[in-house]
Amino acid sequence: MVLEATDVDLTYHGLFINGAWCEAEKGRTFTVSEPATGLPLARVAHASRADVDRAVAAARHAFDHGPWPHTPPDERARILHEIATLIEANAHELAELESRDGGVPLRATTFNDIPLGMHMMHAFAELARRPPYEPMPWNDFPTLSWNFVWRNPCGVCAQIIPWNYAFCMTVWKLGPALATGNTIVFKPSSLAPLTSLALVKLIDEAGLLPKGVLNLVTGPGAEVGEYLVGHPQVDKIGFTGSTEVGRKIMAIAAPHIKKVTLELGGKSPSILLPDADLDKAIDGIIFGMFYHAGQLCEAGTRCLVPSSIYAEVVERLVARTRQLRIGDPLDLATDIGPLISHKQRETVERYIALGREEGAKLVLGGGRPLGAEYEAGPFVEPTIFTNVNNRSRLAQEEIFGPVLAVMPYDELGEAIKIANDTMYGLAASVWSQDIQLALEVARSIRAGTVSINEHHVLNPYAPFGGFKASGVGREMGVAGMLEYTEPTHIHVDFQQKREDKLWWDALLPPVEEA
Ligand code: NAP
Ligand code: MG
Repeated sequence: MVLEATDVDLTYHGLFINGAWCEAEKGRTFTVSEPATGLPLARVAHASRADVDRAVAAARHAFDHGPWPHTPPDERARILHEIATLIEANAHELAELESRDGGVPLRATTFNDIPLGMHMMHAFAELARRPPYEPMPWNDFPTLSWNFVWRNPCGVCAQIIPWNYAFCMTVWKLGPALATGNTIVFKPSSLAPLTSLALVKLIDEAGLLPKGVLNLVTGPGAEVGEYLVGHPQVDKIGFTGSTEVGRKIMAIAAPHIKKVTLELGGKSPSILLPDADLDKAIDGIIFGMFYHAGQLCEAGTRCLVPSSIYAEVVERLVARTRQLRIGDPLDLATDIGPLISHKQRETVERYIALGREEGAKLVLGGGRPLGAEYEAGPFVEPTIFTNVNNRSRLAQEEIFGPVLAVMPYDELGEAIKIANDTMYGLAASVWSQDIQLALEVARSIRAGTVSINEHHVLNPYAPFGGFKASGVGREMGVAGMLEYTEPTHIHVDFQQKREDKLWWDALLPPVEEA
């Protein structure tokens, strides 16, 4: 919840511009609070347009005149490895902060989010060390030449992330952009900016980057974010968030022909095949759906089940989901914390009401958990609907909360058709013991990531992103690194004799020799 700052004595976080922490113009701030309790956590600077101008100017200067774009890949790799080491050394503090700020269970932040962030940063360092080589054959038409691709950084990058998965997302935005020699103005979400701020603070205290290479501004997206992405001095936009805002950003980028990478929404299917090992598949489908209370873009929100085992699977999904423990995210025994905000809960509850109106059958949850411990935070029970029509809004729209839609299918072809029948194409999972069959299904799915017998496994060496309205471009892996570069084809001509040159036959001979 974002409140206006009063005189509460809270940790204060300024803007990070040109290597120094500073206040926002006129000292404006906003308060960041803990979703689970509603209590204020920190006061954060609310940037103005002039502040954004200063941050972009610092990044511009560092790119145009600083050493970073020309720093050897090995040296950039060394620095990224050091950042990863800092993450490791501060893992406990970061895990707790991520849990408080985003309401993510400490179990998840401790065992997944922070270690994954560290692993990712090491991986980006490895990728930085070996910029992809794109071999080309010797070319003798029309003249003998040697050719190669030189990868230039894009320039000044505006990077914006949402509140969910904030720490990992910070890592996977900063890592590839830094690895390839860009400079950055980064904006986290106002709802959960604290682990991004903490990481930038660690990088600053260790003195790892030349000044102006990494800048951070905070403030509301519609104001600060929109002004930042439209800034004429910004060359490239890396945005993760809703498809709605993604469309707006693409339009803002169009007049300038800015480069964009967009990681947007999803409505990913979990496709259960008739021969799946149900003990593992049920756990996996539930993890794919309810991890972080369903507030993950690639969450498996539509579960497709063979009609022959539909009743059994529904019963088992319900029974296993019933065992999930909802509660205080700081308790290591909690599986599901609160949603990020009361507004987000209202959205989720509207979808639950809509599901009922559309004729889906509510078989679990649908309400708020009862008890004093749930009063302050926006908790929602894990919810399961069956008899869902894939054309209904419940099945088509991204809810971003703990709501699973279960649908039966008769033949595999029908399952694939339903799986692809959405405007999104971010991820999918296929559950089967027959790997050949699972592979055939995986290759029929129009999505950026398809996991067989898993969900939510993010691999920094693999590209991540979406087909269709789930986005443009890819993050992570070699593809993600290349998104932060512009290729220059360098042609080295070996033809020595004037009469063998390309122009000899094309141009009229020089006048004096005619
Ligand atoms: P959002 O409303 O689109 O906001 C995302 C970020 O954009 C925030 O930092 C927000 O700032 C900022 N923003 C908002 N309006 C803006 C504008 N007009 N111009 C520039 N920036 C603007 O999304 P959200 O509700 O925070 O996050 C949930 C969404 O993110 C879901 O749709 C989810 O699927 C998507 N997501 C996608 C991926 C992926 O990799 N594909 C990963 C995670 C999440 P403030 O919050 O400060 O206002
Ligand atoms: Mg928060």
